[in-house]
Amino acid sequence: MPDHKIPQVTAKRLPLYYRYLEKLHAIGKQRVSSADLSDALQIDPATIRRDFSYLGELGKKGYGYNVTYLLQFLRDFLKQDEVTNVVLVGVGNLGTALLRYNFYRSHNTKIVAGFDQDPAKIGTDVDGIPVYSLDRLQEVIQLHHVEVAILTVPVNAAQSTADFLVKAGIRGILNFTPARLIAPAHVRIHNIDLTIELQTLIYFLKNFPDGEEEMGEHPLHLSGTNDES
Ligand code: ATP
Repeated sequence: MPDHKIPQVTAKRLPLYYRYLEKLHAIGKQRVSSADLSDALQIDPATIRRDFSYLGELGKKGYGYNVTYLLQFLRDFLKQDEVTNVVLVGVGNLGTALLRYNFYRSHNTKIVAGFDQDPAKIGTDVDGIPVYSLDRLQEVIQLHHVEVAILTVPVNAAQSTADFLVKAGIRGILNFTPARLIAPAHVRIHNIDLTIELQTLIYFLKNFPDGEEEMGEHPLHLSGTNDES
């Protein structure tokens, strides 16, 4: 399997190729040229050749691409890319809303479990997503190969929960709490502070009602990543 790091624009086109190849395969077509693909998908042939070149040696000059081989190849490739499993800690109001929100449909991302300390919530589920006690974290993240966690606990529990997540092997935290978390360098933290975002919006509407201030750098805009170097 080639290096997984292909350009995003290419990655987005792969499902288009895949769907079209499925059609060709269904009608018994055995080979296809980049010009045929180009006509059918309205994508420049050079772009198609470049896209495929990221995936390795898939075609022969003058022959084109073997439909069955390419289809199988893309199927395996897209499967690898299929879903990123995520967990969520803190199944309160916001946590529950995020569990209900279907990241999966649009982002290839799926919350596989929620965690909470409240015995009334442990053992329940939210739209089919189970809620566990944190002492099952390690087991669940190993089972589902999880490296990313969404943090929606109260602010006073944020740092200790983050420490626990990191110890269990989590490498990315989407932090919805207002706490500024401290974590080892290999852990990436993205902060989403909804209250600050809303206050910032209101501040700008009040102070710059005509929108004359340039958006971007401004004193109240505190959210973002933890490595702002
Ligand atoms: P609710 O109305 O359910 O209390 P909330 O969003 O207002 O929701 P918060 O106090 O923000 O409640 O807590 C969010 C969730 O985090 C709650 O379900 C709470 O039980 C859970 N929680 C609090 N501390 C921890 C912790 N240390 N570990 C895991 N979950 C925690």
